[in-house]
Amino acid sequence: LVSRENHAERSVVRVGGVPIGPGTMTLIAGPCAVETPEQTLQAAQMAQAAGATLLRGGAFKPRSSPYAFQGLGEAGLRILADVREETGLPVVTEVVDAHDVELVASYADMLQIGTRNAQNFALLQAAGEAGRPVLLKRGMSGTIEEWLMAAEYVAQRGNLDIVLCERGIRTFEKATRNTLDVAAVPVAQRLSHLPVIVDPSHSGGSRDLVLPLTRAGIAVGADGVIIDVHPHPETALCDGPQALVDGDLRELARLVRDLPPLV
Ligand code: PEP
Repeated sequence: LVSRENHAERSVVRVGGVPIGPGTMTLIAGPCAVETPEQTLQAAQMAQAAGATLLRGGAFKPRSSPYAFQGLGEAGLRILADVREETGLPVVTEVVDAHDVELVASYADMLQIGTRNAQNFALLQAAGEAGRPVLLKRGMSGTIEEWLMAAEYVAQRGNLDIVLCERGIRTFEKATRNTLDVAAVPVAQRLSHLPVIVDPSHSGGSRDLVLPLTRAGIAVGADGVIIDVHPHPETALCDGPQALVDGDLRELARLVRDLPPLV
């Protein structure tokens, strides 16, 4: 279903009216985690000023440590819905458990499936039945084929509104949080008609790498990028070191604005 074999044209997926696909460079930005209404609104306004047309933000956070901030849950979803009301930005947010899909879908414009759940088949199937577009991250140790098969699980349930996200893979290299597999973008686009975006924040894991990796994503033809933004990264409850602040966002805005026409 997601293969290009029987579907030569690359697809455009619309999220609350915002297109992601060929001819677009959609900027999705916002806080890694929803912490407070003020922090989320500020991050959304920063993102919007930089050209973002979709808001990201996690209310359910899949953390490696059970002692780390796990997210605000439904209270976080309510904050996201309020910020959408205030800014007009449609919301992309993660769902980590199949039992929460209906709840998250009742607030979100797009469901994110994270790298740790890339082969949680029950979750993928539930997301496929939720009536919302799905942002499907690549498993951190997943092959491109496994990633596309994960998309197939969603598609089999009748939902072809899927956007693939290359978010970096595990390699021997420790200088970056993950290794952005830039080649995965054109390979996935060759094999699948689905749009493919990159996550320069979770791959590099460091603020100074976000703009270079965004440029890399644009250079290999990604259909969009998803970026962490925080008004006060030094106090962030999740992934502060990779969050962009105002100064970087001005450069990001220039980068997105000055893009040559995309084909
Ligand atoms: C995220 O985008 O908030 C996230 C946790 O990403 P990943 O699943 O790629 O680690």
